[in-house]
Formats: sequence, structure tokens, C-alpha cells
Amino acid sequence: MGGYRRALRRPDQTLPWMPENQQSAQQHDQPESSTNRTVTRDHFIPPRMYCVETICAPCGVVIGWAKFVKSESPTNILNFLESVYPTEESRPSYICVDKACLVLRTCVSNGSWETWKKTSRFIVDSYHYTNHSATDNLCRKWCNPAPLDGSAPNLVVVENDAHGRPYYKRAFNTQACEQLNAWLGGFEQILKRMTSGNFDWFLHTMLVYHTSQVIKRQGEMNKDDDSDEEEEGQE
Ligand SMILES: [Zn+2]
Repeated sequence: MGGYRRALRRPDQTLPWMPENQQSAQQHDQPESSTNRTVTRDHFIPPRMYCVETICAPCGVVIGWAKFVKSESPTNILNFLESVYPTEESRPSYICVDKACLVLRTCVSNGSWETWKKTSRFIVDSYHYTNHSATDNLCRKWCNPAPLDGSAPNLVVVENDAHGRPYYKRAFNTQACEQLNAWLGGFEQILKRMTSGNFDWFLHTMLVYHTSQVIKRQGEMNKDDDSDEEEEGQE
């Protein structure tokens, strides 16, 4: 399972000093509009940021990142996914994207769904799903992160509450990329002043460091589990 998420500031992100016509934020389930990107400006605005996209596993390990100069269009997202997962064997069963329904629509219309559908489903992460249109049947049927109709049993598990009553629970953390994004946000002020080369180096180094910490923590947790089991065995 892979998660996928935009990181840092979007090129079209609004800032308080930007003029009103720059402040129409794009909804996650709305196609990008070309009109609000081409407004002529006769005043100062800060240099445009790159749009950084990350792919990470539910445990937090970063699998890949890419920098898009212009925008995070569904086509860019699909190209990035195809570069990280070039073969059918390498592809995860579920890929969480904040705009999964748009990616799916583009994937169907450009024909690449014929290959993707054999291995993977594009689902919206639970954080963004609530903001997607309730009347978009394609989104509800194909991109629901935790469908309760039994259509995706790997995404939902049944647990028992304190009173022994069963309830449905998400089987995976679909917000891993969102959490990574929040962490990266802390470096935004440093990153946005960097040249392109320094930006790439710094971001890559931070992601490698972050991933090594995640793996280290997992190792420690596994060790704790093992020693618990040993203690139980000795009793
Ligand atoms: Zn949607």
C-alpha cells in the first residue's frame, strides 16, 4: 500500500498579501483551473515554489519524492507513480491520493487504467475524503478509503470495543503522507529561500534522515514485542 501526497506549498497557494483573484483555492476533487494561474501581475509576489510530491508507506517510510515545477495535475501524479512503480509486480494494491477520483478519471481517459486496474486501486485518504462530493458516484464507489459494504475487506477490519461489541476500523493509516507533510512544513521557510540544487539536496537528505528514524523506531518497537514474548514464555 502506498500513500501519496503533495508536500510544502502549492504554486497556487494563497497568501494574505496576494490579490483577491489569486485566492481561489482548488478543491481536492476539482480539476485545476488554468484561468487563475495566468493573471497578469503588476505588483510584487514572492517567487513561485515548486510543488513537491511524496510517496510514503503507511508506516511512514518515504518511498519517493518528485518536484513539479508547475502543478500537481493528475497527469503529473500518474507519471510520477509510473516512474516509481514501473512494473505490475512493483505496484501496491492501494494508493491513497488526496485527489484520487481525479487521478482515476485521468487514468481511465488516457488508457493507463487498463494496466493499473490489474494491480491497484486509487483511494482518497481519510483526511480529505470528507471534503469530496457526496454525489460523485465514481468517487464514492471506487475511492472510498474504508467502504463498509464488504467491497474492500483489506481496508477495514472488525475490532471489539471494551464491551465486546464489534466495530469497523480502518486497517491502515491512510494519513501517513499527511503527517509527513506536516513535518516537512516545519522546513518550509528554509526551503523556499534555496536554489533549486540546494533545495533538492536538503529535501532528499531530510527525507532519508526521517526514514532512517522511522525504521529505527520500528526496530525498537519490534524488540520490545520480542522481549515481552520472552518474558511471557519464562513465566
Ligand atoms: Zn473525490
